[in-house]
Formats: sequence, structure tokens, C-alpha cells
Amino acid sequence: MATRKFFLNESELPTHWYNIAADLKNPPAPPLHPATHEPIGPEALAPLFPMELIKQEVSAERFIEIPEEVREILKVWRPSPLIRATMLEKALDTPAHIYYKYEGVSPSGSHKPNTAVAQAYYNKKEGVRRIATETGAGQWGSSLAFACKLFDIECKVYMVKVSYNQKPYRRSMMQLWGGSVVASPSTDTNAGRGVLAEDPESNGSLGIAISEAVEDAAMREDTKYSLGSVLNHVLLHQTVIGQEAMKQMEMAGEYPDVVIGCAGGGSNAAGLMFPFLRENLDGRRNTRFIAAEPASCPSLTKGEYRYDFGDVAGLTPLMKMYTLGHTFMPPGIHAGGLRYHAMAPMLCQLYDEGFIEARAYPQNPCFEASTLFAQTEGIVPAPESSHAIRAAIDEALAAKEAGQSRSIIFNLSGHGLLDLQAYDDYLAGRLVDDHYPAEKVREAMKHLPAI
Ligand SMILES: *Cc1c(COP(=O)(O)O)cnc(C)c1O
Repeated sequence: MATRKFFLNESELPTHWYNIAADLKNPPAPPLHPATHEPIGPEALAPLFPMELIKQEVSAERFIEIPEEVREILKVWRPSPLIRATMLEKALDTPAHIYYKYEGVSPSGSHKPNTAVAQAYYNKKEGVRRIATETGAGQWGSSLAFACKLFDIECKVYMVKVSYNQKPYRRSMMQLWGGSVVASPSTDTNAGRGVLAEDPESNGSLGIAISEAVEDAAMREDTKYSLGSVLNHVLLHQTVIGQEAMKQMEMAGEYPDVVIGCAGGGSNAAGLMFPFLRENLDGRRNTRFIAAEPASCPSLTKGEYRYDFGDVAGLTPLMKMYTLGHTFMPPGIHAGGLRYHAMAPMLCQLYDEGFIEARAYPQNPCFEASTLFAQTEGIVPAPESSHAIRAAIDEALAAKEAGQSRSIIFNLSGHGLLDLQAYDDYLAGRLVDDHYPAEKVREAMKHLPAI
């Protein structure tokens, strides 16, 4: 019988984060000032982030020590388990070995607390009393509310209105952990009031909510801003996932041929991939990496690699990313965490350089995959994670077709126990098969800054 679970002791929790910037072949494209289009220095970010996080954002140091206080909190749910999906393998009748790293064991049920705790810690250390952020489906907002509670920081969450109304339990979690939540667009900011003046019925979007949270932080002396994905320091904090997985795969006596993650802003995928990818960058391995994204918001597979804003209002610095246009409003699919118009600059660079592949999937094939996963392995996956499962199953079926063995690892970034409405819709045949909204993207791409 194959061993199913690979556990590490608490003492084996990584002591450092791995910074892939140290091993990139080309220097990263610098962020640019939103108005002047000149490269910005670290000081331009100081109104929004604590200095230590800004230093991490621009650091070229290969390993950055994880503060002891942060490690102590991470130990509540880390190291997370690596599990071999033997029952899924059997159902697929594949010679491939499928492993998943399970991040649903955290308090909020996803990988997001890995960075929320680190961010709250550095804010606290620099005397910040209040943090403003945005959240789509509520995964990030709940993770940050939890982390802020541990460090006694006030947490204000701008939650995309459609989710605020559709996902009341995520809102409850944020409130349980002491966060204060408003539906975005809200009347609390100029950005929100502007959107409401044009469209009082606006359902909101992640881009609008980011504009509101950034404005909140910029306007208040006691408040900083916090982002749950996309930025270099967020990807950095997630590399505990891949470092643990490398040790666990070693325990399993295998090295992966394929490493897979779902990609919204890119943080969970990068967190699993980057430690393995270092081996490719150094020429020691030739592993394949696959980022799985929704067909209705396909930044990597359909976007252009250009400078764009991170938010709708154009308040953030310009970053070089694969983008569908910052004014693009993705369709309301159930994988709310994957509805972002662009992707982490670091992941985009590695994709552009050919180190990472990408696939785009409509939601029905993803729910088909996660339903099979639930019916074999038992865990109910988050709708976001279902994209990674789809890609892993396709790889396992391709291995079967080719009569090859293949070692596959994917990140099960979260559980879906607060997303059962999505499964209800799927089981009742009510899920629309979303497609690529080409016309809306064409329109949005007209609003990119000319750089
Ligand atoms: C937020 C979220 C994602 C997408 O964010 P990334 O930064 O791309 O990882 C994926 N899975 C889950 C469970 C999430 O909550």
C-alpha cells in the first residue's frame, strides 16, 4: 500500500522565506509612478505599507528570515499535510501519482493566513493601529481580520457588494474576528461615492474595492493598506508551502514532473512553485509548472504583457503584468478569488520567459473535477482550487494516454465548505458555462496607459 500522508514536525517549519528575485535571469521590470510613469523608489510606497514589507518587496536577498513570533502563529496549522490522492488515481485508472498540498487546514480555510499573519506582524511592529483592505469572496478579508485580531490591530474590509450579499458567512467570520466590513462601492470613500453616482446599483468589483481601501489608507495617518496577493512580498510569504512540499515529496521518494496551482493574483501558485522552480533556474531540474485560470478571466492565456494599474481608479503604481485591462469587469463566476484582471508581476515574468505554462478552464469542467475529487478523496475543494484539480486530472489522463508514469503535485489552496451554494448550482445544472468575454476585454484594453 502506498503511504498516503506526509507530515512534517513543527520544528521543520521553514525558518526563512525563499525570494525568487535572487535567482531570476533578468531583472524585474520596475513599478512606475501612476502619473509620471517614472520608476518609483521604495519611499513612494511608504504611505501604504510598513517599511519592512517595502524592503521585502524590492529585496534581492535569496532567503529572508521568518520572525519567531510569526513562526509561532504559523505553527497553529503548519506544516500543512501533503497527501497522495490514491483514490482519485484509482478512479482515473492512471499510472500517474497525484499529490496535493492541503492549505485548507488554516483557520480561515485557505493559504491566505500565511501572508496575513506576517503582514499584521510588521504593521504592528511599526506602530500601525488600523489596516484597510479589500476582499472579493471574503477569503482574504477573513484571513486578515483573523491576523489583525491576534496583533490587536483594527481591520476595515471593503467587500465586493455582490459577495457581501451572496456570502453572508464569510462576512460573519470577519465580524467574529473583530473586523468591520462594508459593501463596496461604499459611501465611505471618494472612489466609492464616484462609482455610486454613476451607477447606484453597481455590484462592485475587486478593482473598485482596492481603490476604496487604498484611498482609506492614504487619507488616514493611523492606517496602512494590505493586499492578499499579486505583490512580491505576498508571494514571498507563501513560499513556506513549496519549501515544505519539497521535503514532503522527498519523504515520498519522488520529485514532481509537474507542479500545478490555480492562479487569481498568483500567490498560492507561486508559493508552491517557486522553491521547485529555483531548481529549474539553476539548471538542476526540468520540471513543468502549470498555472490554471478561469476561461472568463484569463489574464495569462489571453492578456497582454504590459504596464497597467492594479485597481480600477488608477491609484496604484503601474506594474508590468499580463493584463486584460484594469477596467475589465470579469463575469460573476463562483471562483471569486480568481476574478482579477491581471497577475503577479513575478509570475508573469517567469511565464513570459517560458518557465511556467498556463491553462484556462470554464467553470463546469472545474466543478466536474472537484466533484470527482470530493467523491474520491473526501475533501470539498474551494471553487478556486477546482481549476488546479482540473489541470492535475488532465495531466494524469495524458499520462495514461501516453502509457507513462508521471508525478504530479498541485496546491489544494482551500476548502469549499463556505461555497456550497456553488456546488448546489453545479449539481442542479444551473452553472452557466462561462466563456471568454472578448468584446469586454477589447474595450478595457483601450484604457491602458500608453507605455
Ligand atoms: C484567494 C484564493 C485564491 C486565489 O488567489 P492567488 O493569489 O492566486 O492564490 C485561490 N484559492 C483560494 C482558496 C483562495 O482563497
